[in-house]
Amino acid sequence: MPEVLVVGGGPVGLLTACLLALRGIDVEVFEARTEPSLRSRAIGIHPPGLAALQQIGIADELLARAVRIREGVVGCDGRALGRLSFERAAPAHPFVASLPQHETEELLRERFRQLRPGALHEGVAVSDVRDTGNRVEARFADGRVVSARYLVGADGARSRVRAAAGIGWRTIGTGETYLMADFPDSGANGSTAVLFFERGGVVESFPLPGGKRRWVAMTNGLTPEASGADLADIVRRRTTVTLPDALAAPSAFAVQQRLAEGMVVGRIVLVGDAAHEISPIGGQGMNLGWLDAVALAPALERAVTADREAQTAHRDGNCDSALEADAALAAYDRRRRSAARMAVRQAGFNMAMGRPYDGLRLHARNAAVRVLAIPPANQVLARAFTMRWL
Ligand SMILES: Cc1cc2nc3c(=O)[nH]c(=O)nc-3n(C[C@H](O)[C@H](O)[C@H](O)COP(=O)(O)OP(=O)(O)OC[C@H]3O[C@@H](n4cnc5c(N)ncnc54)[C@H](O)[C@@H]3O)c2cc1C
Repeated sequence: MPEVLVVGGGPVGLLTACLLALRGIDVEVFEARTEPSLRSRAIGIHPPGLAALQQIGIADELLARAVRIREGVVGCDGRALGRLSFERAAPAHPFVASLPQHETEELLRERFRQLRPGALHEGVAVSDVRDTGNRVEARFADGRVVSARYLVGADGARSRVRAAAGIGWRTIGTGETYLMADFPDSGANGSTAVLFFERGGVVESFPLPGGKRRWVAMTNGLTPEASGADLADIVRRRTTVTLPDALAAPSAFAVQQRLAEGMVVGRIVLVGDAAHEISPIGGQGMNLGWLDAVALAPALERAVTADREAQTAHRDGNCDSALEADAALAAYDRRRRSAARMAVRQAGFNMAMGRPYDGLRLHARNAAVRVLAIPPANQVLARAFTMRWL
């Protein structure tokens, strides 16, 4: 019987499992997919996310593949409103690294396989979860049941684990819509992130490895049928930038922001998108989940150790170490939900700044951006964008 089951082998489940394995915990991961997802999702890896990856020894390899974004430029009507440098925001990693999520996940999978050979089970979907008081059981689609001391729900925003644990899921605000695709990069902006705060709505572009650039534009509604040429047309009309053909069909998405009403119930713990879905605008969801994992690993180690001791001593778990373990998990719940609320607020601010504005409101928004781009406000903003407050 493994000590901890992790449901979901996405970036957060895998990092959690690696951190637990490094603490000597017998951990297994169950992932529904048989093939990695190549969907365009996260690219931005912030300094605290890099520090988390460093703990499991893959930050250098990731950085060797990634582009380093050292500054962001905000413009409107062809003029720069301000520049935000990340150089002083985080001394150890003075940049945001950019790498497609599927490549990051590949590194995490390889690392977990090294740490716990045979403990990543792919093509295995968990259909139900039950806390029996002194154990937690996961039931699989084929009827098999595996039990463990603790179970981590890292199964994404539509979490089966969260539903089975009866944890509420609260929606915050309604969703703006965007269109996003990767294009060959002309190189004109080097490794700078560019935000065009235009009258028709924001257009953002971020460098990617391999001479590519990701372009994202706010749209008037969800446009799942839109082509790469449609996105290029929006970009050209708003910014005058002409893009070559897109490298793949674009993704249309509506922003969802949702928070779980708890991250710990008995022997079940949530991490990552299963606990909080954050708007991709600002690019913090995966990094926030990694910071959950970093906070959870020591708390769960205590809980597992207390459980082992209780078992050895044939006690009912009502000893000092069990109480300390409960307190550590309660602190995890409280602190990580507070961090998630902050990330939601920051993403809300990012989206509000990029809305379509005209007339006086446009002038007021642009004046605010200019103020935020000079000291000392720019230092605070750079820290917020590089997730130093988490
Ligand atoms: C367009 C876009 C851009 C983004 N950009 C950024 C960015 O730049 N930076 C950033 O930090 N974040 C970004 N994000 C957010 C980021 O993608 C997510 O926060 C991140 O994927 C969450 O990781 P996770 O492991 O918690 O969940 P997921 O990535 O959703 O992984 C969950 C895993 O669980 C598996 N699973 C689900 N149900 C079951 C089950 N019943 N049994 C077993 N396995 C199961 C799934 O197959 C999946 O592999 C972006 C998101 C989008 C949509």
